[in-house]
Amino acid sequence: MKALDREISYASFLDQLRSVPARVLLLDYDGTLAPFTVDRSLALPYPGVADRMIRIIETGTRITLISGRPAREVISLIGIHPHPEVWGSHGLERLKADGSYEICQIPLQQQAGLSLAVQLLRAVQLDSQTEIKPGSVAVHWRGLSPSEVDEIKSKIRHLWLPLVTEYPLSLLEFDGGLELRVPGRDKGDAIRAILTETNPEAAIAYLGDDQTDEDAFRALKGRGLTALVRPQPRPTAADIWLQPPQELIEFFDNWLKASGGEL
Ligand SMILES: [Mg+2]
Repeated sequence: MKALDREISYASFLDQLRSVPARVLLLDYDGTLAPFTVDRSLALPYPGVADRMIRIIETGTRITLISGRPAREVISLIGIHPHPEVWGSHGLERLKADGSYEICQIPLQQQAGLSLAVQLLRAVQLDSQTEIKPGSVAVHWRGLSPSEVDEIKSKIRHLWLPLVTEYPLSLLEFDGGLELRVPGRDKGDAIRAILTETNPEAAIAYLGDDQTDEDAFRALKGRGLTALVRPQPRPTAADIWLQPPQELIEFFDNWLKASGGEL
């Protein structure tokens, strides 16, 4: 673990965690709790992560997952019952712990743009790498060679760039792919919405790995602890860097100890 920023230190955060009236732990899924796999349907959490999350929930922490995946997919992969709350599709969907579900209305014009984006991918035989989600279309290239990635990336940019201005949609590069999505909703918005429901005295942390998590890191700046979870560090707005899986597991154990749980 390495401090990347001096605003909130890991040690002072753990101290604070011992005495606060409420605790909130916000987590990205892919790359943060689960290592990347070529077959995305097999991306299971690192060993020991799910049972620690269960024990953290049992000690009274509110855990919420915020992922680029559809919310129900995150629930089936994480395998925690009863499931925690999940904000899916970068915050466009919200599936609460009580099972209630909300999704942002996608304007018809942008739905048409996303349908066209899918048709364009089919026309160049990229169907098998295409993922259709609420409010977005993603193409995944994990497992391909660097030259194949370059080729696919320039092909998609060429196909999709006209749609960005016409519909309008936003183009987002993430770790392992490219995504075309409805603009104006990101993980930072999910964080801001959660903060409005959170006790101002609560200790709150966010863990993420990808460029899309930077919006969340910025939204929580100065209010909570933010951690970049990644095998290698990179420029980030996060306060600390955790190298998974070991330092991630230690983080959960520290959380559990500070909140009076059993290891
Ligand atoms: Mg991620």
